[in-house]
Amino acid sequence: MTRRELVENTAVGELAFVACAIQGGSGGVEAQPRRREVVVNGKRVKTVDVHAHCAVPEAMALMGLKVTGQPNLPNVLLMSNATDRLRAMDEQGIDVEALSINPYWYKADRDVAQKLVTIQNEKLAEACAANPERFVAFASVALQHPDLAAEQLEQGVRKYGLRGAAIGGSVNGEELSDPKYHPFWAKAEALGVLVFIHPQGTAEMNATTRLKGNGLLDNVIGNPLETTIALSHLIFEGTLDQFPGLKICAAHAGGYLPSYAGRSDQGCLTFPDRCNRTLKKKPTEYIRQLYYDNIIFTPEGMRHLVTETGPGQVVMGTDYPYPWTTTSVDLILAMPGLSDAERVAMLGGTAAELLGIKA
Ligand SMILES: [Zn+2]
Repeated sequence: MTRRELVENTAVGELAFVACAIQGGSGGVEAQPRRREVVVNGKRVKTVDVHAHCAVPEAMALMGLKVTGQPNLPNVLLMSNATDRLRAMDEQGIDVEALSINPYWYKADRDVAQKLVTIQNEKLAEACAANPERFVAFASVALQHPDLAAEQLEQGVRKYGLRGAAIGGSVNGEELSDPKYHPFWAKAEALGVLVFIHPQGTAEMNATTRLKGNGLLDNVIGNPLETTIALSHLIFEGTLDQFPGLKICAAHAGGYLPSYAGRSDQGCLTFPDRCNRTLKKKPTEYIRQLYYDNIIFTPEGMRHLVTETGPGQVVMGTDYPYPWTTTSVDLILAMPGLSDAERVAMLGGTAAELLGIKA
């Protein structure tokens, strides 16, 4: 039963049934978990999860793909069945999810890419419209056709009410900093919308044995590594200088970049002959203008991320429905040394502003 149905049932006089359900009563009625409301210093906070996945089977079919994954995953990836998703959000204290779809269409030709992205953005808009208080979404764009991607972003924002774009950390082995992608970055900057960068792994290393073996290293190491490389190129190739108004949020706490930030400043000082471009700022200063989700698992990881990037740059992420973590809210609530305002910003304030979510 959804929360809406619960309210409707109450309205038609089924209060006894509802009360029984809430108490987890007998008769085969499943207990309705209470929605967790996150409070900071006595004030209710609207929490926002910037990193949540879904899938649109009609679009995937154009690439000959099906929704697959772990046994329960296909169901929860589909927005046509949002009940389980809303229940998980309620349990974890997440008020709004910003939905995104990881790119699988970067090899599609222009016609297929156009059709696929249109279907996908329409379906994302429908999913948001069905639960406007709980979902916003990032547009999909066909970044392999940069001018088309720019159009799709504009259409996604203006026609479908989407709040930005979700892109991969590379495009068929090419860096996001390649000048061919400038039309996309220019459009994102002009629209003032957030670009969420999610890694797709490092295909080049997966072609060798380096990340094979036990422990899914292609994901555990490959994903944060790709994010680290992508962000580093955006800094060092001058993309962030050329488009200073860009708002970029990196998945998985920015990969390894904030963990070893100091080395980024030291490289060109140590080996100046290897550097051919003068940046407007120190590399670590760009790190402090990007945004990062908090999928970093430990209080010490959070502390370091916030130290290197600033409390205003960290937003909440869960990676739902992939079961990496269910405690993204708690990681922020439990973090020592934050002011109430910083905690509220991290839980949802900053993301709400970036994504145009009303308080
Ligand atoms: Zn993810």
